[in-house]
Amino acid sequence: MSLMRSMLLAASQNEWLRDRAAHYPFVRRTVSRFMPGETLEDALGSAQVLRGKKIGTVFTHLGENIQDRSEAQQVTQHYLEVLDRIRERGLQAEISVKLTQLGLDLSPDLCFQHLKLIVERARKESIVWVDMEASNYVDPTLDLYRRALVEHSNVGVCLQAYLHRTAEDLARLLPMRPSIRLVKGAYNEPPEIAFPRKQDVDENYFELGKRMLQAKKANSCVRAAFGTHDVVLIRRLDRFAAAEGFAKRDFEIQMLYGIQRAEQERLAREGCTSIVLVAYGSYWYPWFVRRLAERPANLWFMIRNVFAA
Ligand SMILES: Cc1cc2nc3c(=O)[nH]c(=O)nc-3n(C[C@H](O)[C@H](O)[C@H](O)COP(=O)(O)OP(=O)(O)OC[C@H]3O[C@@H](n4cnc5c(N)ncnc54)[C@H](O)[C@@H]3O)c2cc1C
Repeated sequence: MSLMRSMLLAASQNEWLRDRAAHYPFVRRTVSRFMPGETLEDALGSAQVLRGKKIGTVFTHLGENIQDRSEAQQVTQHYLEVLDRIRERGLQAEISVKLTQLGLDLSPDLCFQHLKLIVERARKESIVWVDMEASNYVDPTLDLYRRALVEHSNVGVCLQAYLHRTAEDLARLLPMRPSIRLVKGAYNEPPEIAFPRKQDVDENYFELGKRMLQAKKANSCVRAAFGTHDVVLIRRLDRFAAAEGFAKRDFEIQMLYGIQRAEQERLAREGCTSIVLVAYGSYWYPWFVRRLAERPANLWFMIRNVFAA
């Protein structure tokens, strides 16, 4: 892992920096590249624009590691409201939640009750996605995911290709007909836990992706979604999907708002399922710094913003 990436990922956990970052206009200008605004209304507005381009949306309200029961309840309540708003506006939209935002650090049972309420409020044909956080949360996240999936089929989970364990996790989930969003992984993990070389992560991603598509073909994976901006990987998986006889709309790519916009639109024009994850909320600091770590060139973009009017 590059030194710059490690430093940025360490900075994403730093409370002192978090408290100060929001006060600098150049930081806020850079953040606006990755999120349409802090409010739900901003996020709903961007979904409407994306819809015009045949791009679907997944909303995520930023926040993690909540330490207080009432806060976890408020987040749950907020997501219930989001689901109502999606329905009212007839939007092609889903949501993605972090379990530590629903109270996982306080009590797995409490967190499960919150997740259950949310999944029950969502339309049956839309998925509630569960994000994957740092490696110490993988077991509790998968435990709660399995519990939820036994009761409701409209729940999906994120798996991270940088983890050595993911092939096994995928194999254990497939008999349950899961929905999976595969990503590379965004946290600072040691080499015993995650592949340190990008090349190995990419290869593992491709292998896992192929397995997901084969499982989808065999009807043992409900949604096989690829959460990546890596155009080379997308092309490789697209070719594999075509060779397996998949219709274009069954090839699903999810990207983050503001990243690879031309590719998001190209995929939608080709008839693939192209979805953009729109994040909003005031607790953007750790999420934003992870975006910088993914592409340190973004730092230059931020530095240019220091001098922008
Ligand atoms: C929909 C979605 C959901 C996600 N959910 C999770 C999750 O639950 N848990 C988790 O650990 N991670 C999650 N991630 C983040 C993921 O793990 C990666 O850190 C992130 O997607 C970057 O990896 P990449 O696959 O795009 O490939 P990379 O090899 O990192 O990037 C490929 C190319 O994409 C472009 N790019 C990538 N990132 C950026 C960026 N930040 N800014 C500008 N350009 C960029 C660059 O051109 C780069 O060359 C999610 C990502 C997406 C798209």
